[in-house]
Amino acid sequence: MTYRFPDIPQMKDIRLKLENKGKRLRFSISGRKSLIYVPLIWYFIKWLSRLGIILRRNGANVYSLYIPPIPSEADNRHLQIFLNAWLFKKKVPFAVTIAVTDECQLNCAHCSVLENAAGRRPMALAEIKQAIAESISLGVTNITFTGGEPLMRADLEEIIAAVPADKAVSLVFTNAVGLDAARAAAISKAGAFGVQISLDSPEPSEHDRLRGREGLFDLVKKGVENALGEGLMVGLSTYASNPSVAEKKLSRLAELAAAWGAHEVSVFDLIPTGRLLRKTEVMLTAASRRSLLLEARRLNRRFGGRPRIITQCWTNHGRGFARFIGCLAGHYQFHISASGEFMPCDFTPLSFGNIRDETVAGLWEKLLRHPAYKGRCYACRMQDPLFRKTYIDSIPQGADMPYFIDRLSSPNCG
Ligand code: SF4
Repeated sequence: MTYRFPDIPQMKDIRLKLENKGKRLRFSISGRKSLIYVPLIWYFIKWLSRLGIILRRNGANVYSLYIPPIPSEADNRHLQIFLNAWLFKKKVPFAVTIAVTDECQLNCAHCSVLENAAGRRPMALAEIKQAIAESISLGVTNITFTGGEPLMRADLEEIIAAVPADKAVSLVFTNAVGLDAARAAAISKAGAFGVQISLDSPEPSEHDRLRGREGLFDLVKKGVENALGEGLMVGLSTYASNPSVAEKKLSRLAELAAAWGAHEVSVFDLIPTGRLLRKTEVMLTAASRRSLLLEARRLNRRFGGRPRIITQCWTNHGRGFARFIGCLAGHYQFHISASGEFMPCDFTPLSFGNIRDETVAGLWEKLLRHPAYKGRCYACRMQDPLFRKTYIDSIPQGADMPYFIDRLSSPNCG
C-alpha cells in the first residue's frame, strides 16, 4: 500500500510504499527530497519490529490495540501525525477517549470517574457523533469509548458505527458485565476494532471485591471469550500499585491473558484521580516502576508477542520502551467527558471548555496554548508534584468536576 501525506506541505509529493513480508515490514520511498525521510521511517519501522506483531489480519499486521493495522488508510493518517510532530513540531492528536456515560453497575474503590459531576447533562447521540466527526477532522486515528460503563448505552452500536473505518479504529473500554455473546456480535458488526476489559487482579475474589460485585471475574473471562469469538481484538486493562508490583501480580495476570487468548495487556499506573484524587500516597515509587518495567520485559520475552504487555511506564518517566512519547495529554491525546467537557486526558480532572460551546479543534488549540500544556512533558503530569500543587491541590474541596482550568493560576509544567 502506498502512503501519502497531504496534510504535511513539505511531504505532499512523497510516496511511501509499505509491504508486509511475513513478520517484516518493508518500505520504499519516492518523491522530492525523499531520502531525508529515510532514517526516521527506518527508525519507526525498526521500533515496530521490536514491538512485534500480535495478529495478522486481512494482509495487515496488528502491532497494538492503540495502533491501526499496518498497512491501512487509518495508519497512513497515524504515521502522518508522528511525522508532523517529529519533523515539523506540529501537535496533532492521534487518540481521544470519549466517555459516553457516567453510569456504571459497579462500585470500584479506585473509580476514576469524576466526583461531583452528577448534575451535568449527558451528551445526546447527535452530540457524541459530532464529537467523533470533529475529532476525526482534527486527525485522530484511535477513538476509545469509555464511561462509566459504555455498554450501558443502548445506542453504543450507533456511536461506534459513526467512526469511519478508513480513518480510525474504535475500542470499547468495558467492565464486561454486559459483554455477552449477542452484545459482542453487535459491537463487532457496528465496526469496533476491539475491547479493553478491566481486570484488577488475577485473583477472582480480589477482583470481585475491588469492584464490588461477586462473580465479576467469571464475567471477564466469558467476555474475553465472547469478544474473541466475534473477531474483536481483546486487551485486558489493569493498573499497578506498589503492593501489586511487590507481589508480581502482573505475571499471574499475564498468564491468564495468555490462557484466555487476549492480544494485549495494558498496565496503567495507579494515579490519584477520581475517588483517589487526594491520595497521592498511592503513586508508584521509582523502585516499583523499575521492577514493573523489568517484569514486563521478562513477560514480553517469554510470550514473544501475544499477549503483549504494555505498561504506562513505557511512556511517562523517561526510561521505558516508548519514552519518546511522554505524557500524552496535549500532545497526542485528549478526553471528552460524558457531559462534553474537553479535558487533557481521562485522568486529569480539568476542563478547557465544553464541546457544546466550542469546536473540538478550538478547544485543542486552547489546550496547546495553556502554560501547563504548551511545553513537552515527558513525565505524567498527574504524578508530577509541581503540576499537582498548582492544578490539582488547588481545586476547592467539593467543587464541580472537571474543574475549569482558567480558575487556577498557571506556571509551566515542571
Ligand atoms: S497526565 Fe499524561 S501521562 Fe498522566 S495519565 Fe494523563 S496523559 Fe497519561
